[in-house]
Amino acid sequence: MQPPHIESICAKEPNDPRTTKPHVLPIYATSSFAFENIDEGIAIFSNQKPGHGYSRYGNPTVEAVAAKIAALETAGLDVEAAALLLSSGQAAVSTVVLGLLKSGDKILTQGNLYGGTTELFLKIFKPYGIETILADLHDLDRVEDLIKQDEKIKLLYFETPANPTLACVDLAALADIARRHGRLSAVDNTFATPYLQQPFRYGVDFIVHSTTKFLNGHGNSIAGALVTTHTPQMRMGNGIWQAMKLVGTNCSPWDAWLVHNGLKTLALRMERHSSNAMRIAGFLQEQKNVVRVNYCGLPSHPDHGIAKRQMKAFGGMLSFELEGGLEAGIRFMNRIRFCTLAPTLGDVDTLILHPASMSHVNIPKEVRLANGITDGLIRVSVGIEHVDDIIADLQQAF
Ligand SMILES: *Cc1c(COP(=O)(O)O)cnc(C)c1O
Repeated sequence: MQPPHIESICAKEPNDPRTTKPHVLPIYATSSFAFENIDEGIAIFSNQKPGHGYSRYGNPTVEAVAAKIAALETAGLDVEAAALLLSSGQAAVSTVVLGLLKSGDKILTQGNLYGGTTELFLKIFKPYGIETILADLHDLDRVEDLIKQDEKIKLLYFETPANPTLACVDLAALADIARRHGRLSAVDNTFATPYLQQPFRYGVDFIVHSTTKFLNGHGNSIAGALVTTHTPQMRMGNGIWQAMKLVGTNCSPWDAWLVHNGLKTLALRMERHSSNAMRIAGFLQEQKNVVRVNYCGLPSHPDHGIAKRQMKAFGGMLSFELEGGLEAGIRFMNRIRFCTLAPTLGDVDTLILHPASMSHVNIPKEVRLANGITDGLIRVSVGIEHVDDIIADLQQAF
């Protein structure tokens, strides 16, 4: 063959760089994978040979990070799990529901889920025939009755600790009820992360994460993870994998790589988030214009007993109630200097949110109040800075 022209040199891929093994995970920024010959293509597409064909079906960078999250969720446990990394926390929730449920099936869950999850269940899945029943999941007898009375309930879905009051539910008890009645259980483990809480230890079937938060920790990517001990579900061709592939909820390799970079320091960060939050919760309790402090690490928190049983430490999230309602809340937010006003959580720096005027401004007041989101409530995602700097900022804002 003649040597290629300059236009062809521009367009062609270089040869696979055969080099010494990279120390750090490379980003496979490729939509597809080239086959040596047609037989290899057939073998990979029919799942007879490990490999990749198209990045929506699977990508080496994305799979490496998913496998790491599965390893974190099973560390020290005698169980095997498989994971998928998805394009957001919402994609993780959607993919588990689409992979497991069909029209006519029902989800039993709590009223104080992450707002986006409640909206997803009620606005997207309900019109497709998947109904959601809301109940207080602290009331285990009621949960068991509801499940016994309605065989259409296929999934018991919960979140612990939950936004913004840090309410916790009993993982072991809920997983046990689901299992005894032949139903599946799923938990959103975003607030705790596997470093502080491993739901597989208590028999939960599926774990979802918004890796956007603590798992990444640096606020630079939106992604999610879905982990399960029902490993065949995640294999090529099966229910959940198929939902990801066909709906296209897969994570991009770039975002996966950013999650991985953050994961390396997860243990150190969660230790500091937890110790800083505990100090700040104590400080807040002593303020005379603070009516209530919601931190599941405080013995005064109604779910402290549950949290203590199933968590190693209590994480970086807390909220508190200011005397003086909406006006006091807005005034306090405007005086914040060191911390940042931002509607996310789990980053290395401290983030403050006033739910009544920000994240929950479109939620009817009675719904808000029923879930503990009062006008004077301030939510803090405590960072890993020096705790004295955070306390000094809060102090001057009071
Ligand atoms: C943020 C969040 C989600 C949604 O995750 P995205 O990555 O924003 O899609 C779900 N659950 C919890 C608990 C969250 O905090």
